[in-house]
This record gives sequence, structure tokens and C-alpha cells, in this order.
Amino acid sequence: MQTLRHQGPRFAGITTEHLRNIGRRDFLAGAALVDGSWIEGEHRDVVVDPANGQGFADVAHCDAADMNLAIAAAERSFSGWRELLPGERGAILKRWASLMLDHSEELAILVTSEQGKPVAEARCEIAYGAGFLEWFAAEAERAYGETIPSHKAGGLLQVRMQPIGVTAAITPWNFPVAMITRKAGAALAAGCPMIVKPAPETPLSALALARLAEEAGVPRGVFQVLVGNPIELSAPLLRDTRVRALSFTGSTQVGRLLLGGAAESVKKLSLELGGHAPFLVFDDVDLEKAVKGVMVAKFATSGQDCLAANRIYVQKKIYRPFVAAFALAIARLKVGHGLEPETNIGPMTKLSVADKCRMQIDDAVKRGARVVSTNPDLNLGPNFVTPTLLGEVTEEMLIAREETFGPVAAVLPFESEEEVIARANANEMGLAGYVYTDSLRRALRLSEQIECGMVGVNTASFTGPPIPFGGWKQSGLGREGSRHGLAEYMELKYVCFGDLAALEKRND
Ligand code: NAD
Repeated sequence: MQTLRHQGPRFAGITTEHLRNIGRRDFLAGAALVDGSWIEGEHRDVVVDPANGQGFADVAHCDAADMNLAIAAAERSFSGWRELLPGERGAILKRWASLMLDHSEELAILVTSEQGKPVAEARCEIAYGAGFLEWFAAEAERAYGETIPSHKAGGLLQVRMQPIGVTAAITPWNFPVAMITRKAGAALAAGCPMIVKPAPETPLSALALARLAEEAGVPRGVFQVLVGNPIELSAPLLRDTRVRALSFTGSTQVGRLLLGGAAESVKKLSLELGGHAPFLVFDDVDLEKAVKGVMVAKFATSGQDCLAANRIYVQKKIYRPFVAAFALAIARLKVGHGLEPETNIGPMTKLSVADKCRMQIDDAVKRGARVVSTNPDLNLGPNFVTPTLLGEVTEEMLIAREETFGPVAAVLPFESEEEVIARANANEMGLAGYVYTDSLRRALRLSEQIECGMVGVNTASFTGPPIPFGGWKQSGLGREGSRHGLAEYMELKYVCFGDLAALEKRND
């Protein structure tokens, strides 16, 4: 449940003014979609603009009983949905994607209003999110099985891929649209219904997606969205054996809880958890290219990104010029309300995230880090964090060990390749890593040695529907996107025909 937090003097009215122009008033209605009905709910939760703390909409607060109804409805919808031809399911997903693109501007305003990110980034998220529906629409037709050369005389060995059943998703607030379509696109393409419990901070984006899914022809019960208390709503999802798979994106702490909770019903779990990406800059690389890359890797989504560069290791020879150029680039960032077109850095979606950033800065400074660059005190409100560059960061500082999730950049000097790879890997997170070097040999070596699920070599932009997104170590389990993403919602079935020749004879 959200409460009003603070008054932001500069932004009063900005959301209201934009929302007045939103063509789709139903995107603001805040009703949950359960079993084909739009539920208003006895209780309502307030949705808050994180920039100014003002409530601008409210949504139905669902409870465990509503979730049980949703599970039953999903179960009822399963056989009809799985029996459609993959191409028929794909056509519905394509219609859903194209409706998202038709309403991109309204969805982007919604995302910025409740999440805070700059509206230009919100528009990119809508296109990125629609891309997953399009990708999986096509992938539905490619859920190939296998034929294995038989190890028994006369045998025929098949491996088939079949939809797992009812699925659920618990999604975060940093990508309130794309983290839903990345999961639902795969589940629905595979032939599975999905129930989504979005983050309480960003329910409107999820509910708007549900409106568009319904318009696209997604049948009753196949895609449902329920907003409410995370513990109350996740309990039936974990307990109920009809829910066969659960996909979660969020903190490692909650991921661990869900893993434990899913043990009793032995549910298939996909976890996309936190990161602590090392960003390695070697002295052979073009400085400008590296600074451009680190600006994206650190400050996209105002730093609230699991791919964010959390430890920026810079080789000693170029440490000073790199830090100077990085500081200049940071000073140019405009902080403000996400709906102001020139904004690069919006508010943190949650006050706790902003507080964590400030705590990491204080801790680093106490332990000897140098604040190289910080904008003058902007005093925009408690959810805003001034983009800050910390130099001379060392491994014992909190920022070098714990995920930041905000616009605070930590730079650490290093001497040699052997030293930096050991330091980069000395962390329990293993989602993404970045290597900036102009040596092909070094790039190949490091991309092999780095312990994470995704590596960007001389690039900070590598996500998208075709790639297997996911982490090693405590960054998660399973993959999203790509053909591997579809497999998260499917079961393998091995079938052995024992004596094929005999079967054929009887048919004659
Ligand atoms: P969170 O893990 O608490 O929230 C993510 C989702 O889990 C939300 O839908 C939330 O309602 C739900 N949730 C929370 N507690 C739950 C519980 N006990 N049982 C079931 N569901 C529960 O994340 P947060 O507190 O909002 O953010 C904290 C940190 O998590 C961030 O600072 C960041 O480090 C990390 N995070 C990572 C991602 C990512 O993309 N991997 C996204 C969001 C947050």
C-alpha cells in the first residue's frame, strides 16, 4: 500500500496536466482483471508520482481470495489456449504488441508518472516491451522437439515440448511494462496462461497492458493482473499445485524467499535477481568510447537497472583522464521530473532506494573515497539522488559490495588484467559485466573468464528479445528472452516407441 510521501514544489500538477491529455482514460481506472472481469475492489491503493509524492490514481486492492479465483480461472482457460495452433496464439500476441505501439505515448506517460523515468526512456521501454511479444509470437511456432537416434533396436525416441500449465509472474517497478511482456510473451506463446502480480509502486502500467491484451483477443483467464500486498498475493501462488511455474524479477532477498516458498509444491522457478556489474576499462581503449559506454551502463533508468555498472574498474595509466572526462559528462546530466523533456535523471521510484544511495555515498566518503563530481544540491524532493561520481573507491566500501540501484558511480583503479578479473569475480552477483579494450585477445580471454550471464565487449547496449537474459551465482536462475525464454514455460517429454516395426504391421 502506498502513502503520500512529500510535496515537491516544482512539479505540482505536471502529472495531472499530462494525464488530462491521455487518450485512454481507462488506463487510469485502476480495476484488476480477474477471470475476464474488471474488479474495482472494496479497498483501493493510491498510486503516487515519485517525483512529488502526490497521489494521482488509485487501484483495486486484491486479496488472497481474488488470487484463488484467478488461479481457478487460469486453470480453466489452459486447455483452450494450449489447443490453439501456435500461429493462432502468435497472431494474438502480435495484435497485442501492435496495440502497445499504437498507444505508446499514453503508456509512456503512465510509466513515467508512476515509475519516474524520463519519458524518452519510457517510450523506448514500450517499444522494447512490445518487441518481446513479437519475438515470442514467432517463437511459438519454433518450439521444436527432437528425434534421438535410437539406442534400442526398432525404437523411435522423441523429445516433445509441452506447455507447463498455469504460470505466474511477480514483477518489479524499474521496467513496469517490459518485465511483464518478457515473461507473459513467453508463457502465452508456449500455451500457458499467466497471472501477474506487479509491483505495488507501478500497477497502472500492468493494468493498461491487461486492457490491451483483452482488446487483442487474449481469452478470458489467460492473462490476469492482480495488485495488492505482495506476501498475501504470493502465498496462494506458491502453495497451489495448479500453478506450475513462477517467474520473478526483483531483489535477491525476495528471490530467496520465493525459492524457499516454492519448495513445498516443487514449482519451476525463474529468478532474475540483482546485479553488481563490473565495468572494466583498459588503458588501450579509446577514452571517449569508454566514457560514452559507462554513461549508459551507469545512468540508464536513472541507475535503477540490474545491468547497471556498479564497480567501474579503470586501469591506472588512464585513471585520471577517464575520471575527468566522466565527471564532465555527469555534470551535464539534467535531473528533474521525467515528464520534462530535457530530463536525463528522474526520481528514484522508492524512497528506500534513494536512501540506500545516500547511505552508500556516506559510507564511501567515511572510508576515504573522494566525491569527484556532484551537482549542486537540487533540493527537488527526497526521492531524488544527485548524480555522483566517487573516486578512489576500495573493495571494503559498501558500494563495492552491495547493489546501488541509483545514479552513483564508483570508480576503482587497477593495475593488471589478472588482478582486475579476480576482483571482478569476487562478488556473489553474476548478472552482467562489461569489458572495454581494443585488444581482441584480451576481449576473448576476459569474456571467457568473467563470471556472469551476460558480457558487453565495448558496448553497454546489448539487451533485446533475441538474447538470453539472466544471471549466474546469486543473480538468478533461468533465462528470459531468446528461444531459452520459451523453455522456462515448457516441460520436456521423452517418448520411446519400443517396436516400431510391430506397430506398422498392425496398421497394415
Ligand atoms: P523487491 O524484490 O522487494 O520487489 C520486487 C517484486 O517483489 C515486487 O512485485 C514486490 O511487490 C514483490 N515482493 C516484495 N516482497 C515480496 C515477498 N515477500 N513475497 C513475494 N513478493 C514480494 O524489490 P524492491 O524492494 O522494490 O527493491 C529493492 C532492491 O531490489 C533494489 O534496490 C534492487 O537492488 C533490487 N531490484 C532488482 C530488480 C531487477 O531488475 N533485477 C528490480 C527491482 C529491484
